[in-house]
Amino acid sequence: MRLVLLGPPGAGKGTLAGSLKDSLTIEHISMGDILREEMKNNTALGKQAKMYIDRGELLPDEVVTKIIEQKLKKPISGQCGFLLDGFPRTVQQAKDLDAILRKIKNPLDYVLYLKATLPVIIQRLTGRRVCRNCGAVFHATNRPPKKPGICNECGGPLYQRADDNEETIRTRMDVYTHSTQPIIEYYESQDKLLPLDADKESEYLAVMLNEKFNENG
Ligand code: ADP
Ligand code: ZN
Repeated sequence: MRLVLLGPPGAGKGTLAGSLKDSLTIEHISMGDILREEMKNNTALGKQAKMYIDRGELLPDEVVTKIIEQKLKKPISGQCGFLLDGFPRTVQQAKDLDAILRKIKNPLDYVLYLKATLPVIIQRLTGRRVCRNCGAVFHATNRPPKKPGICNECGGPLYQRADDNEETIRTRMDVYTHSTQPIIEYYESQDKLLPLDADKESEYLAVMLNEKFNENG
C-alpha cells in the first residue's frame, strides 16, 4: 500500500500514521520528523531547515523532493509500501513525486485527506507534546503520557515544538491554504482522494481505514 497523508497542521497526520504503519506494515516517512532529526544533529541541512521551520514557512521544493527521492529509492525490507506524512506540500512536489513513482513503477494507491476544523486544529497544536528521543506525539489533555513529561514508548523527555506557538501556527495555516490546498484538486482529478473527518479521534479513523484496506487487499 502506498499512501499520502494530506491535511492542515494539527489535523493528526503523525498520530494517524503511528497507528497505521504497524497494522499495514508500511514505512512511515515524515518530512517534519526527518527535518527535526537534522536540526537535532545540527547538520547543514538542519541549520537551513531551522530558518524556515521557525518562521512556519516551507523549505524549497528541490530540497525536500531530493530527500524523498533518496528515501523511496531504498525501501526498507519487510515493509510493503509507505505512508508519506508532510510530503507533498505543494503542487510542484506532488508532480515531482508522481515522476519519481513512475520511475520505480509504483503509483500511489490513496491520498488520505484529513479535514479538520480550525478550533480543533488550534486545540491540538497548542497542547501537542513530542518526544525528543523517538518523535512520538502526545497531547497535554487529549492524549496525556502515563507519566507527565515522559514518553510512554521510550522514556525520553517530552517537549513543545517551537513552531507550535500562536503566531507561527497562523503562518503555517496561511501557507497551507495557499500552497498545499491546491494539491487536493490535483489528486481529486486522479481519483485518488479519500476525504476523512479528522475532527474525529485518530483511533477511530485508524480502525475504519484498516477495515477498508484489509477488505480490498
Ligand atoms: P505540521 O504538519 O504539524 O505543520 P510538520 O512536522 O509536518 O508539521 O512540518 C514542520 C515544518 O517542516 C513545516 O512547517 C515546514 O517548515 C517544514 N516542512 C515539512 N514538510 C515540508 C515539505 N514537504 N515542504 C517544505 N517544507 C516542509
Ligand atoms: Zn519516545
